Amino acid sequence: MNAINSGASKKRLPLKEKYRHLTRGLHWDTTYQPMNKVFPHAAYEGIKIHDWDKWEDPFRLTMDAYWKFQAEKERKLYAVLDTFAQNNGQTNFTDARYVNTMKLFLTGVSPLEYMAHRGFGHAGRQMAGVGPRVACQMQSLDELRHVQTQIHTMSHLNKYFSGFHEFPHLHSRMWYLSVPKSFFDDAVTAGPFEFMTAIGFSFEYVLTNLLFVPFMSGAAYNGDMATMTFGFSAQSDEARHMTLGLEVIKFMLEQDEQNVPIVQKWIDKWFWRGHRMLGLVAMMMDYMLPKRIMSWKEAWSMYFTEAGGALFADLARYGIRLPKYAEVATAEADHISHQNWAIFYQYTHAAGFHTWLPSDEEMDWLSAKYPDTFDKYYRPRFDLWREMEKEGKRFYNMGLPQLCSTCQIPMGYTEPGDPTSIAFRSSKYNGDTYHFCSDGCKDIFDNEPEKFSQAWLPVHQIFQGNCGGATMEDVLKWYKLDGDNMDYAQSLDKKMWDEWQAGKNRVSG
Ligand code: FE
Ligand code: ZN
Repeated sequence: MNAINSGASKKRLPLKEKYRHLTRGLHWDTTYQPMNKVFPHAAYEGIKIHDWDKWEDPFRLTMDAYWKFQAEKERKLYAVLDTFAQNNGQTNFTDARYVNTMKLFLTGVSPLEYMAHRGFGHAGRQMAGVGPRVACQMQSLDELRHVQTQIHTMSHLNKYFSGFHEFPHLHSRMWYLSVPKSFFDDAVTAGPFEFMTAIGFSFEYVLTNLLFVPFMSGAAYNGDMATMTFGFSAQSDEARHMTLGLEVIKFMLEQDEQNVPIVQKWIDKWFWRGHRMLGLVAMMMDYMLPKRIMSWKEAWSMYFTEAGGALFADLARYGIRLPKYAEVATAEADHISHQNWAIFYQYTHAAGFHTWLPSDEEMDWLSAKYPDTFDKYYRPRFDLWREMEKEGKRFYNMGLPQLCSTCQIPMGYTEPGDPTSIAFRSSKYNGDTYHFCSDGCKDIFDNEPEKFSQAWLPVHQIFQGNCGGATMEDVLKWYKLDGDNMDYAQSLDKKMWDEWQAGKNRVSG
């Protein structure tokens, strides 16, 4: 203390030096209890760390500076949210179909932000090194901020539109929300190094642009300035998260050669799981945004094939290769949005958002973006459904689909290279048969059958009577669906939207 106050050292230390003083030497090895009892998850995954001090923190952000930055971001964001609410910004959306993307976001993504908050808190606690521990703590706080700002932003939409008011309840019960929920549950129940690979690297680094950029540009294109602003506000934290994700991977790979195959296996697993979950974004981009930004296929090629390709070329020097089945995922980019929308179109009576058939103009856009697949495989199906609608027989599928035991998505995906037959894989474990949508999902199960055989599969649970009862009505009640489901054409959202438009026309005419 005296030294610091003395005249000689009054001049400010350079940032790097200052940061060193604030972060080094904070750790000590415990003596009352052995280290492996204090950090019980540090070793069982097989990752070997020899020197935690080799961790070089790329941010050099002190807690003090962190709070100042974040507070400034919050002030700007909430100023925009207030303005949006006071000016009834929701009336400037392209049309009320757009709001369904936000329902999907609030019920499917925001709860994962909260789980990320918990996950990074937990992973940080298990890290026996100070550098990653501090970085995890900051990311944990960021994620809590993300979920809160998202709830605040969408609370305004909840005043006008259906489908927003029961989002945590829906997240835990709704069949398709089991896809993102089980994804994150898998990650937070893994060890700390797998969690960091799953969320910090595979999700935040490799795939995050495919989630956030489409949602935020989609919001901007469709007149939702509030969402665009929370998106940018979160995106500014994201740069730090991506760096942490990459840093963790490099650190593990540099610490011990034996870590390489373990990390590669996690990258393979979490790439595939992430790809499956992002099928929801694919559908959002190609079908749900009234004004499109770009197709899923274009986004995949830009953010995975090109950006991911460069990243994995860089990691090759550590002995890391592209994730297994990357080429299958790339081939699926021609199909996945169409197949997902077809699933949701059939089951919209049991979903928390509306679906609809694409208009002629939208189908032409899809033909242009998917010249090899849309007209051949998907347009005819939509044409048939449109005929049925005209006859007053809008198709709702009253059967329950078989689910993939890993990703939990209905088994509607097709064989790689054969888009007219359903892909079907299975494994036996402890006398039971488990079904999968793909080789990627089967591999994941086969590596950890003791974990995945315990999965809470929505359709199985309905059949076992654990979801409110035996009828559709019972199950919907248990979901707390508020009665405004079904096709967009019949929705309360559309009715209200049409009234707003009529009001606007009266005023201007
Ligand atoms: Fe986040
Ligand atoms: Zn699957």
